[in-house]
Amino acid sequence: MNILTKLTLFISLITLTSFCKTEVSKDVYICGENGAKRYHYSKNCQGLSNCKKGKFKVSLSDAKSKGLTLCGWED
Ligand SMILES: [Zn+2]
Repeated sequence: MNILTKLTLFISLITLTSFCKTEVSKDVYICGENGAKRYHYSKNCQGLSNCKKGKFKVSLSDAKSKGLTLCGWED
């Protein structure tokens, strides 16, 4: 394996890793700034239709770190 091949492989690995990180840090929606139990991929989700506290956009990793689980309509 020559040095150029190794370099190409290394760069593809970096690209792939950053792509995966982008996937994880996508945004989800919660009802109310605090105290929500569920997160939603869509802000028009049925699970958010009765939300009176306002819909807030947070990152998926933030929602998971707060112990929120995916809404029952979307699993
Ligand atoms: Zn939902």
